[in-house]
Amino acid sequence: MNGSILVVNCGSSSIKFALVPQQSGQPRLSGLVERLGASDPGLKFTDENGNKHQFPLPGADHASAMQAILEHLGDRQPRAIGHRVVHGGERFKSATLINEEVIDSIKQCASLAPLHNPANLEGIRATRLLFPDLPQVAVFDTAFHQTMPEHAYRYAIPTELYREHGIRRYGFHGTSHAYIAERLGELSVHGHGGWIIAHLGNGCSATAVWQGRSLDTSMGMTPLEGLVMGTRSGDVDPGLHLHLANQCGWSVEQIDQMLNKHSGLMGLSGLSPDMRDLEQAAGDGHSGARLALDVFCYRLARTMAALSCALPQLDGIAFTGGIGENSPLIRSRALSMMAALGPRLSDIANDNLARGREGRIDLASDTGSPEIWVIPTDEEGRIARETAELVEFQPYLDFHPEASA
Ligand code: ADP
Repeated sequence: MNGSILVVNCGSSSIKFALVPQQSGQPRLSGLVERLGASDPGLKFTDENGNKHQFPLPGADHASAMQAILEHLGDRQPRAIGHRVVHGGERFKSATLINEEVIDSIKQCASLAPLHNPANLEGIRATRLLFPDLPQVAVFDTAFHQTMPEHAYRYAIPTELYREHGIRRYGFHGTSHAYIAERLGELSVHGHGGWIIAHLGNGCSATAVWQGRSLDTSMGMTPLEGLVMGTRSGDVDPGLHLHLANQCGWSVEQIDQMLNKHSGLMGLSGLSPDMRDLEQAAGDGHSGARLALDVFCYRLARTMAALSCALPQLDGIAFTGGIGENSPLIRSRALSMMAALGPRLSDIANDNLARGREGRIDLASDTGSPEIWVIPTDEEGRIARETAELVEFQPYLDFHPEASA
């Protein structure tokens, strides 16, 4: 056993994993099992030395895929396992050691995340069977946003729906937003001031953070609310559902598929959900790609400006996720639509920041205007750290199980 934490992110047909060493900055082994349930599942991973490995896993399910991962770890056995769990409802305000009661609560939250929580539980079940003696921790995507005030998390619909069915805004990408908020506290002269963090990947969300706590976020009861995403629509008029059902005869499933799988950048462009493709195509004059970029940037700017209402003061804006970290074009276009809030981008710093690097990209000489940062996210590192911290307090928690609730 070494000091590493195995981080597991189990989806319905995939398992992402990483072995995160105790010391930060050390190289990680990380990989992916994909196509579980299809005819040709396979395992790929890159070891600590950068060597790539690939194995077919014919007929594998979650349990046998975890077994294969374990075998390929060889003698690098972890000291604990951290699971990404999508929905923790109102029950989980922080990471927690997994026991039977926690598993039951995650099951109860599955009605709010029917696609994600059951898959996360598959992973937990498989690793508990394979590593019965290792402590296991659940780290929730929603937990960071449990600090939102009621006026930010309630929908203006009848109160019974909140009380009886938990219908409210929860927010997601919490691990990423928490990591970036913490990093800003270390990097910025404003420390833990007032920040808007834009996590822009295939899924996109923006969060208003004050003194390290989430005060509002763009995703809601599900990860469909808010910004335009790769294939998800983000905000639409709720009346759209009724219109499609009554006027066009669509079923609930068709509406759900359209909003989650065929909308966003994909739906607008008719070309691709991938920002790299769209930037290229827009440059070549593709009108759908141009429109997709325009709507994406405008809605991002509008949402960030709205989120500033949650903050006593706006000290800065930070970008992360595949698009936020790598696209000077999107950062520049979104910020240019927020002139009223005063961000002053340095075009040179924005264009020259090396991909995957952390950096400040505003005109730093312009004192008084919000700072602008690009910070690569590290969800795996954050899950590993939260796991390690809980495991260190294990003896205390053995005597005070209520403290892990
Ligand atoms: P996920 O949300 O699945 O973790 P990522 O954070 O990896 O996804 O983000 C994927 C998105 O990042 C894709 O739209 C991809 O096109 C975009 N992206 C990655 N590199 C670049 C780049 N150099 N320029 C523009 N977009 C990029």
